[in-house]
Amino acid sequence: MRKQIAAANWKMNLTLQKGEELLDAILAIPQELKTNQAAIFAVPFPYLAMAKQKVAGKQNVFIAAQNCYSKLNGAYTGETSVEMLQSLGIQYVIIGHSERREYFNESNQLLAEKVNICLENNITPIFCCGEALEIREANGQNAFVANQLEQSLFHLSAEEIVKVVIAYEPIWAIGTGKTATSNQAQEIHAFIRAEFAAKYGEAIANNISILYGGSVKANNAVELFSQPDVDGGLVGGASLNATEFVAIINALK
Ligand code: PEP
Repeated sequence: MRKQIAAANWKMNLTLQKGEELLDAILAIPQELKTNQAAIFAVPFPYLAMAKQKVAGKQNVFIAAQNCYSKLNGAYTGETSVEMLQSLGIQYVIIGHSERREYFNESNQLLAEKVNICLENNITPIFCCGEALEIREANGQNAFVANQLEQSLFHLSAEEIVKVVIAYEPIWAIGTGKTATSNQAQEIHAFIRAEFAAKYGEAIANNISILYGGSVKANNAVELFSQPDVDGGLVGGASLNATEFVAIINALK
């Protein structure tokens, strides 16, 4: 059974003290995580060790990094390797967030390398894909996302692809307050799953978690997550508020 996931993306927000307070507040609110569910907190690099310590012993709660480099180690000043993340016990990394694609020119090819190095080192990539507004307006979203999957993921074997979590995040819905309707989300999630089925077979495709990201809030999470191919969310803004994010966790199927 594929996992249902509520993943928080703090982006470049909060101080160490504010991050600690937020995690404490979230963890103090009772959550009902079932065995097939997970809550993941993608915190800034300097807070990984703190966050890891806070969730120690909590069932189905994980800490993620927001990025990593495509090489294992070496003279890459300012970068962070999966080996470093692993040494902190980090199990998830967001790969290819649209902000990294846009502001740091991360290409599909570079993202394929990052996915590879994560999998080679037992770290689960949360691979982001999704189209810009002009593409959606021209009804080109399926072809665009299919190309992202093809260029960054379709070289993987069946054993590898089931270890990847997908986050479909339409760029026009990220941080804009504009959410895809649950029908729009279901439609493209079903398309993404069909792409995996065509490449790897139905059984594999049915085991891949596909999260929706783009202005998920407590008041729209239940409807979005109720869609059969929406396996939870990657949440930016609303993950910075304890009650909002716990409500989103509790909206998981
Ligand atoms: C994100 O950061 O991936 C995101 C979806 O942000 P927001 O929820 O603020 O739209």
